[in-house]
Amino acid sequence: MATGMSRDLPAADKPRKDKGSVLAARLARLGIVRDVDLALHLPLRYEDYTTRVPLAQLHAGMSVCAEGVVTASEVRYRPRRQWVCAIESDDEKGIGAALTLRFFTFYPNQQKALTLGARVRVFGEVREGHFGLEMVHPKFMVLSAANQREIPREAPRDVSLPNRLTPIYPTTAGLSQEVLTKQIARVLQHEAVLRDDLPEAVCRQEDLWDWSRALRFLHAPPPQLSEEEQITLSAHTHPAWQRIKFDELLAQQLSLKRHKAARASRRAEALKPRGVLTEALLQRLPFALTMAQQRVWKEISDDLARTMPMHRLLQGDVGSGKTVVAALAALRAVENGRQAALMAPTEILAEQHYNKLSAWLEGLPVRLVWLTGALTSAQHKKTLAMLADGEPAFAIGTHALFQKEVAMPNLALAIVDEQHRFGVTQRLALRDKAASAEEVHQLMMSATPIPRTLAMSFYADLDVSVIDTLPPGRTPVTTRLVNQTRRAEIIAHVGRRCAEGAQAYWVCPLIEESEKLSLQAAQTLYEELMATFDGSHETADGAPLPKLNVGLLHGRMKPADKTAMMEAFVRGDIHILVATTVIEVGVDVPNASIMVIEHAERFGLAQLHQLRGRVGRGSRQSQCILLFETPLGALAKARLKVIFENNDGFEIARQDLRIRGPGELLGARQSGVPLLRFADPERDEALLERASRVADRLLKTKEGETAAVKLIDRWLGDKAEFFKA
Ligand code: ADP
Ligand code: MG
Repeated sequence: MATGMSRDLPAADKPRKDKGSVLAARLARLGIVRDVDLALHLPLRYEDYTTRVPLAQLHAGMSVCAEGVVTASEVRYRPRRQWVCAIESDDEKGIGAALTLRFFTFYPNQQKALTLGARVRVFGEVREGHFGLEMVHPKFMVLSAANQREIPREAPRDVSLPNRLTPIYPTTAGLSQEVLTKQIARVLQHEAVLRDDLPEAVCRQEDLWDWSRALRFLHAPPPQLSEEEQITLSAHTHPAWQRIKFDELLAQQLSLKRHKAARASRRAEALKPRGVLTEALLQRLPFALTMAQQRVWKEISDDLARTMPMHRLLQGDVGSGKTVVAALAALRAVENGRQAALMAPTEILAEQHYNKLSAWLEGLPVRLVWLTGALTSAQHKKTLAMLADGEPAFAIGTHALFQKEVAMPNLALAIVDEQHRFGVTQRLALRDKAASAEEVHQLMMSATPIPRTLAMSFYADLDVSVIDTLPPGRTPVTTRLVNQTRRAEIIAHVGRRCAEGAQAYWVCPLIEESEKLSLQAAQTLYEELMATFDGSHETADGAPLPKLNVGLLHGRMKPADKTAMMEAFVRGDIHILVATTVIEVGVDVPNASIMVIEHAERFGLAQLHQLRGRVGRGSRQSQCILLFETPLGALAKARLKVIFENNDGFEIARQDLRIRGPGELLGARQSGVPLLRFADPERDEALLERASRVADRLLKTKEGETAAVKLIDRWLGDKAEFFKA
């Protein structure tokens, strides 16, 4: 039956790429899918075409609407093809005043419209040209054609000017301002788009504009704004902007807080203090926990004792001692007869954890299991069997831990070190190792401190613990910025220090575009330093350079070779370790006191801070030498200034946030998810605090909950899911 009918279908009903679907595709490129997305596509700026400025009163820099009669129109070919018109005032007062219009791309029908004698209205920015004032690519509108000149001058002026400021929207190829403006104006008629999702009482209490008022204002502000209003409008602090940003932050808070609340109804095993293993570890440690470590351990310990699954982020600057806290948490699981897993982002780091914990736990009844991609297949099989039997164990490893074939049926706690280096899916995979319907407690650790505002905004579903002091006995690292031209001096200096027993890391330039080039750079640097320190060279002023052992460590080496090299460095057999950024995270060699970074201008702030954190761990006075090459770009200059002036990881992260925005600091958590579009947690801190409070209040009542669902849908739509990971 269906086939018989299809023949009779009118052409319009057959699927084809019609005007509507082309438009939809272009809008989708801007992330606009629903009507409300159009309403939330807010202008970048405005142009004022509400009044006409006489040609005689124009001056450079004004964005205006002006009118005149076309007195010249010609296409020129020097210096490049362009169409140049002139319009002149025909007003008695302004006789002789003129404006040049210049078009570098143009169409025949435009030329036809602007013929000599036509009266036109033009819109655009006035600038100073070679031959007086001009507009480049102005918008224009023909008021009367040449042959209608007899029409009284007043008549064309009836073509009314807009009575609102003209919005300029962000757009994409093939989508004109006019079309976008029309589409937006259309949805601004819709009840559903204008509906205020915020309960009226909240609006009043928080002294917020109505939703529809704010939207209408931003899409079409009235002319003659006060100077203050103009300023607040472009700074996005105007009450209309405040309302939009408030709702955006509120939707985010609501989504995260609801997720957190949902966690409370799920169950994990309550891991009660049994005192056996955790106490034993505390007694064996060669040091006492700092106050900060004790505090965070208590927070974690309390979480673990509950049946609500823990989702806690443990933050602490590089070297603040997070590993021991992780070990305590893992032992809490083991002393409860369960399994725990600690996942690290690199082989070297996983191995260091394993070695350190083996030493700490030696003789204690804990099955420590080591799992990385570097195991032989026989070892691998044996290890998997050990985990699969469900006996209490503490597994330490790399990404290998979350491979499909790994089963930990008795897993109660998953710990992820340097969590920002992992993707959401990887963390979830580890969590899902547990066989039971019960959930796994999760502890995420990060040495990239997240500023308070950012944590409050994007991690509102997590609990956060912070280790805010370093263990005692650390010596501050002095940082030097040294121009590449003085590299020979640095080589001599590092040579001298190493001859006295110091050890140094020498980090190769980062070559983002190519791993091959990175390796070449590492190899070249390694060979250069080996040759320099072979005992037969001297400095430019004749001082002998010592004979030193130089090693090379990079990501492409076989795991066994990496381990051997790292061990030689730990033993002190290697003086200078040339390394790519594989040493960036976690590595702990207290005797290393010099960090040289080549082309420091290419590194990000977090990376520089992490690298610098590799030294200053022993009693020796430590140094971080940042070699840079001039000329420096503005961004590189800003970063080097920050790293030179600051030691505190939180302050550095704050500055980093200011320099490059939140995207990278958040790492994989936000991949594929739009960050906040309008609000900025740092700049809009006060609004964020209010949104957080209002969110708590709303979630307490039934109507509030209903409002929350609507707000989340309006702002996040189907993206709300992403926040749940
Ligand atoms: P991070 O937080 O960067 O992971 P680590 O856990 O690697 O730091 O600790 C850095 C170093 O400090 C390690 O050598 C560790 O043994 C040591 N350490 C940790 N806690 C203390 C403490 N309370 N007192 C002295 N040293 C400590
Ligand atoms: Mg660490």
